[in-house]
Amino acid sequence: MDVIKVGIVGMGKIARDQHLPAIHGNPDFTFAATVSPNDPGVAGIAHYKTLDALLADGQVVDAVALCTPPQVRYDLAVAALARGLHVFLEKPPGATLAEVVALEEAAAKTGATLFAGWHSRFAAGVAPAKAWLADKRIVRVSIVWREDVRVWHPGQAWIWEPGGLGVFDPGINALSIATEILPNAFFLSSATLSTPANRAAPIAADLAFRDTTGAPISMDLDWRQTGPQSWDVVVETDAGTLSLAKGGAVLTLPDGVQHADDEEYPGLYARFATLIHERRSEVDTRPLQLVADAYLRARRETVEAFDD
Ligand code: NAP
Repeated sequence: MDVIKVGIVGMGKIARDQHLPAIHGNPDFTFAATVSPNDPGVAGIAHYKTLDALLADGQVVDAVALCTPPQVRYDLAVAALARGLHVFLEKPPGATLAEVVALEEAAAKTGATLFAGWHSRFAAGVAPAKAWLADKRIVRVSIVWREDVRVWHPGQAWIWEPGGLGVFDPGINALSIATEILPNAFFLSSATLSTPANRAAPIAADLAFRDTTGAPISMDLDWRQTGPQSWDVVVETDAGTLSLAKGGAVLTLPDGVQHADDEEYPGLYARFATLIHERRSEVDTRPLQLVADAYLRARRETVEAFDD
């Protein structure tokens, strides 16, 4: 198979921290271009201020990874797909569910690959957790995702705007794990969203789900956590308790602990390459559906204004 020329659109934190090293570490890809309106790009690599400028320059890339905020992702994705480029969508795959469905249809028409990447699913403990849970009866699930927004999202104004998801930006990672590992579908029963008086998106959320067998699933999201951070999923079953800590990286089963240091993004790019080679798309909207349902069904409360 030919090496895939890939460009990154949106040279922000996740592009530099994770996408660049993962692309450099994968021989199926060659890093061919960057697009970003203000960032200067990478020395020696073709750089464009807009995706349109890249597309006007000929077949510079075969694929793009869209690492922008979600609010601008649809227009970029549809332009890239129209040119037959394969598209990797950072999470969340869009600002609305319907636009993601429209993108799937656009990809199917052109035959290009559309990959909605959920990076937390590639954490080391997630696949073995899914395998272990497959034949268990779920008793209850607790998800706690509490982090300090000032540490992880400093100055990211878009994250507080409509479509930016607020505390669901990290919270959707927990939902991407839960929808992957739990054997039954689950859905929202009730929720409270807490939104700062000066912001459009929630800083905290308390959610109660239940699965199709009636097992309760609680989720506690909070961006005001200082000190130790929590990214934990605990699943009580008829055969003991499974826990995933550190965002899915550390799995503990009733008979011991499995630690693994594997990084998530090499796995994402390996999957992207496989999908391109097999001429398939992979777009799972379930995590975004659950967030949308929270916005549909939650009680709202306004809390103290928040400034970076
Ligand atoms: P960020 O640091 O704010 O970077 C976003 C970048 O997008 C900015 O650098 C901006 O470029 C660029 N951009 C905005 N509009 C654009 C457009 N129309 N065309 C091209 N580039 C555009 O955000 P981030 O933290 O990297 O997050 C980006 C996405 O990755 C989000 O969906 C987030 O949920 C996801 N993600 C983030 C993390 C994380 O730890 N931060 C982890 C996993 C996934 P300029 O600088 O040139 O203006």
